[in-house]
Amino acid sequence: MKQCYICKGKLAKEKIRHFHQWGENVVLFENLEVERCTQCGEVFLEPKTLELIDAKTKDIFIRKVPHANLNIPVVVI
Ligand SMILES: [Zn+2]
Repeated sequence: MKQCYICKGKLAKEKIRHFHQWGENVVLFENLEVERCTQCGEVFLEPKTLELIDAKTKDIFIRKVPHANLNIPVVVI
């Protein structure tokens, strides 16, 4: 992808922290490569990145592949 779907701005590769929700569970992805529009800031994920997220999430919750865990404070409002 070379152009933003929304504003036709230029896209630049960036690595982000992404919380992926899977049912009641959440997986934290660090250093996930995305493309961000330099004009409007919208973030786009390539199909291969979405596949990677899906595969890694299933590795953890279905195939029980060992992984790092993080305890984080929770505030319910
Ligand atoms: Zn844009």
